[in-house]
Amino acid sequence: MDQKGYVMSGLSFLLAIPAIFLVAVLVDMVHIGSESQSRVLQSDATFYAAEDIEFNTPIITEKTLQKITQTVIQSGKPLEDSRLDIKNALQGEMDSLSKKYSENGGINVKCTILSVDSSPDPFKIRVKSTVYVNKGSITHNESLSQDISIIDTNYPIPDPIPFIKCKSYGGITNTSTKICYGSSLVNFLKTKNMTNAEAYENSSSSLFIKKCPYDPYIGHGNSKSFIVLKNCIETGYFHESSDGACFLCRLEGKATCPHYGFETFIVPSNSSNLNIKSAPCSIDHVIFNETSYPGKEITYYVYGVNHYRLFLDNGHRQKYGLPMY
Ligand SMILES: [Zn+2]
Ligand SMILES: [Zn+2]
Repeated sequence: MDQKGYVMSGLSFLLAIPAIFLVAVLVDMVHIGSESQSRVLQSDATFYAAEDIEFNTPIITEKTLQKITQTVIQSGKPLEDSRLDIKNALQGEMDSLSKKYSENGGINVKCTILSVDSSPDPFKIRVKSTVYVNKGSITHNESLSQDISIIDTNYPIPDPIPFIKCKSYGGITNTSTKICYGSSLVNFLKTKNMTNAEAYENSSSSLFIKKCPYDPYIGHGNSKSFIVLKNCIETGYFHESSDGACFLCRLEGKATCPHYGFETFIVPSNSSNLNIKSAPCSIDHVIFNETSYPGKEITYYVYGVNHYRLFLDNGHRQKYGLPMY
């Protein structure tokens, strides 16, 4: 009996081994399960933080551009290095955003702005950055290159160049949508010895940078009685141009630059002297460049005694589909 009992307990011990092994495996599985569960949560948190930063960078950039441009138009003082200034300002904004992640979610975030530069699309600027996000054992690294709009209607950005150029010539006033030059443009053009500078007394141009939807541009003049040109001027659109300065160079007070940029019309007053048939060309980068050239009058609308005119050279007439001389 004793011997049988010994045999039985030996057998139950043998049977117990896989059971113990099974329990050990199960305990370990539960352990691994909870660990991978927390890894999932951590990687979700880092992923969402990185995604959030990617989503927010354009909005933060647009707000920063708006703020910087505002200081330029208020002071009339150009930036020395707009790319560097915007990069530094943006870095400051990203640092304070990163701080919020560590304070609220215990997530380490570092967003480094590598560069701010012109983009192939002149109505955008290119921002390159790296995003590093870390929580626990999970780290997420990302390199971003984002082309960010300067014409978002939520954050409209004024054209800085008229404010910089006219500062010393009597200054300009801006309404909610237009820049009114008063006598400043006449004074400015006279320093360049331009004939018939007075055609620009009380001239105006668009305040905010807006992209002209009438593309191809040749349609401006091909329309019946220049209706497209008239609508374009009244709304104050800007056009892509390889001669006109890009936005970042405009912040530095340059009317032309090597980058692909844009241009807009500077429109003489509708009561300007009708005897003037030739005056400085009504394109902003021509007027604000060191050397301007003249253009001949083109009347795009007449209302009573008011004549709505531009002065354009043949090059720009061709671009906008207007009759050449
Ligand atoms: Zn247009
Ligand atoms: Zn440029």
